[in-house]
Amino acid sequence: MAEVILNQVGKTYPNGYQAIPAIDLHIADGEFIVLVGPSGCGKSTLLRMVAGLESISSGELLINNQRMNEKEPAERDIAMVFQNYALYPHMTVFDNMAYGLRNRGASKDEIQRKVSDSARLLGLTDLLERKPKQLSGGQRQRVAMGRAMVRHPQAFLFDEPLSNLDAKLRVQMRVEIRQLQRQLGTTTLYVTHDQVEAMTLADRLVVLNKGHAEQIGSPLELYERP
Ligand code: ADP
Ligand code: ADP
Repeated sequence: MAEVILNQVGKTYPNGYQAIPAIDLHIADGEFIVLVGPSGCGKSTLLRMVAGLESISSGELLINNQRMNEKEPAERDIAMVFQNYALYPHMTVFDNMAYGLRNRGASKDEIQRKVSDSARLLGLTDLLERKPKQLSGGQRQRVAMGRAMVRHPQAFLFDEPLSNLDAKLRVQMRVEIRQLQRQLGTTTLYVTHDQVEAMTLADRLVVLNKGHAEQIGSPLELYERP
């Protein structure tokens, strides 16, 4: 559970390019925020700064009032789900899901219990011994979500998680992601190009343009104005 606050957060890349001048964003505990905007507007940059994969050039990032600016990804209690799943190909589904817990020194019992619980929620119970290449695209995406879920992170970050799936599966997974997020109550920041996906998922949308938050509001506020 977490409240995530960006105060005047900016990013200038080492080559001098200012991707994000200064953005303010207050994400409430349990809120589902979707970032939309044209290619190159800074969506990934923003997500990667929150994840700790990219340094922050100015301003501050707070998670539950703790300043995160210089903390490494491993010190942040945040889980990221990528478009290409980023599963370990040589490991079983169980081991992929258990990876983060093992790294944190969880006991065997705890790992068994948490992986089983998440697998049940995601319909992966019968697939735990398989390798990623023996799974469909939708199943792989579920494993990636399972891996993010098992350690009950303070926040989920999704970077276009469904863009490699076919249209039917995209709709199905979008519903599942929303249900899971509601069930777990985990604060979520979600990047997509898909406007329908954005409207159905978001509590609030942030429309980025050239690194500026051009509009922030609920789907109704942003899309259904006369
Ligand atoms: P989006 O995710 O919205 O497509 P990005 O956050 O990937 O946008 O990129 C925002 C801008 O920053 C783009 O103009 C991109 O070319 C630039 N950019 C991204 N990464 C780097 C980098 N490592 N060095 C310099 N410029 C970068
Ligand atoms: P995607 O479209 O999947 O978001 P990007 O085009 O944003 O991919 O970038 C992929 C990688 O290349 C990222 O690590 C990003 O930081 C880097 N990158 C993007 N634009 C630039 C750039 N103008 N200069 C240097 N690196 C860049």
